[in-house]
Amino acid sequence: MIEIPSFIDLHTHTRYPDKNNFPIFEIEKAALNGGYSEVLAMANSEITIDSIENLKLARSFDKKLNILVHRVGALSKNLDGKELVNFNEFVDEGVTIFSDDGKTLIDDDLSEIAFKEIAKLNGAIFQHCEKNCHTNPGDIAPPYNASELITIHENEEFEIIKRDLDLVDKYKTRYHVQHVSSKKSVELIKDAKENGLPVTAEVTPHHLLKNNLDINMNNGSLKMYPPLRSEEDRQALITGLKNGIIDVIATDHAPHPKETKEISFKKSARGVVGLESAFVVLFSSNLFSLEELIRFMSINPMNILVSLGYASSNTKINNWTKSNSTFITKSFYKNSAFENFQVSIQKEINHV
Ligand SMILES: [Zn+2]
Repeated sequence: MIEIPSFIDLHTHTRYPDKNNFPIFEIEKAALNGGYSEVLAMANSEITIDSIENLKLARSFDKKLNILVHRVGALSKNLDGKELVNFNEFVDEGVTIFSDDGKTLIDDDLSEIAFKEIAKLNGAIFQHCEKNCHTNPGDIAPPYNASELITIHENEEFEIIKRDLDLVDKYKTRYHVQHVSSKKSVELIKDAKENGLPVTAEVTPHHLLKNNLDINMNNGSLKMYPPLRSEEDRQALITGLKNGIIDVIATDHAPHPKETKEISFKKSARGVVGLESAFVVLFSSNLFSLEELIRFMSINPMNILVSLGYASSNTKINNWTKSNSTFITKSFYKNSAFENFQVSIQKEINHV
């Protein structure tokens, strides 16, 4: 039996609050099945967390769950990048992390104001880096160039990180790069850290374990943003994580109904679930030691949250046992990148 601390996910889409009664306990179930006790919920729920009223509505649901849900405030109203939210009001409510995740804050003038104001408030910007997100959101990474698919070049990520790092340098804003996907981006983050900038970064389990040769074009099971990239990029992400350039493994858990995923790659929604599978597939890959996984999934995420004023403590313990089986999602949303993945460990049912 392996006894380890519970995990903390810095990138979860709870989907609620919404207008369609999303089954909120499915988030709890996926988290507990995967050994997570805390998640950081992105602001791009159907009802966007861009006002205190919406924040309070989200928290009224969060309270019902047997996991701790930390909240992020949107950077811009309705995530459309045109009007900034009132950061002060959010900080008064204990929310110091701001992100338009799902979208990037593109406008240079608004970005400058956001980086400046959030630095003054000792908050942080968590950025989803996709330059064409508002104008021409894409489908897949090169070298795929089928005419019906829009390619997402690594420069979409790189150019946003580069622009943002200049603002971090200017205002010393605490900055976190969400779901890094390319070697070029890792090199940029490495330089920023060497220059002493207050920067952290995360990578997802699917970007660590899969590359763009794995994609089945008949369905959307591996369609997500950022897209899976080359083997060279995957290796750079693994090395970057082991070397401390990337701090955290975060799932980007994004439940989608099967009608929007079990269709052609082009038409599929972007995103995969990840809470339930993350640890078992990462452990089973033998790419990382148990100590490394605890650092990337428990200790470092907790330290980031605590440093930003969130009440995070991974004091819960989970028990795991060796097994020889395949991963099957138990919670309702099954759009996993790892269904039927060969695994060597499973969680004991009675979590503490
Ligand atoms: Zn994102």
